[in-house]
Amino acid sequence: MKQGELVYAGKAKSLYRTDTPGHLYVKFRDDITAFDGGKKDIISRKGSLNARVSAKIFLLLEEQGIPTHFVRMDGDSAMIVRDLRMIPLEMIVRNFAAGSLVRNYPVTEGMALEPPVIVIDYKDDARHDPMLNDDIIVIALQFLTRDELAEVKDLALKVNTVLRRFFADLGITLVDFKLEFGRDGSRIVVGDEISMDSMRLWDTATGKSLDKDVYRFGKGDVLEVYREVAGRALSGGEQK
Ligand code: 5GP
Repeated sequence: MKQGELVYAGKAKSLYRTDTPGHLYVKFRDDITAFDGGKKDIISRKGSLNARVSAKIFLLLEEQGIPTHFVRMDGDSAMIVRDLRMIPLEMIVRNFAAGSLVRNYPVTEGMALEPPVIVIDYKDDARHDPMLNDDIIVIALQFLTRDELAEVKDLALKVNTVLRRFFADLGITLVDFKLEFGRDGSRIVVGDEISMDSMRLWDTATGKSLDKDVYRFGKGDVLEVYREVAGRALSGGEQK
């Protein structure tokens, strides 16, 4: 696959055209950022760990009938995806209270949220990803129709069911995660990535963070915990 012109460089991934129309090449870089890019570093091998875990999750979702943009891996830190018209929303599914939910509201960290809580943010770093409600999405921004919004929420909950079970079998509690969706023709599909950068994962036995919170809050060696998750999520064994 020929890596063509750079289309977009985000904080941790770069998107390139390919020689196949409608397919993009997504390079998972070793950059890690937090707090709207206020904290940044380069962690060697992190891109590959996130790319491989993301690919594994996209395949799992496809197997369960949930449409995604994933086509295939290309090497160990890049994937080929279908070019989507992205919807600039961050769909966050929360199974347990943590992060901004605890910061912004009088909710105790670790409280089980049953049924899971969906929070939708407007993806815009300059505005610090403000939280939206249904009317802002449907009427003011016109990103989705009311029916499409219901469809996207339903898909997000289906992804949650699949991922919760997958991680539970690995001794990991899926606390919350962020999804992004895009339009592939008339279909709405899961895009972007689903990785340790976009999920909050706690070791079920110890309660230890196994995700980007380790980097955000200086809780230890982020590469070590990303390798730990990849080691459990991929076919087993130590991940390079
Ligand atoms: P919180 O709202 O608590 O900061 O984040 C909730 C969940 O969504 C966490 O798993 C977090 O990693 C993910 N998340 C929220 N915003 C972003 C974002 O802008 N980028 C990424 N990669 N993940 C995010």
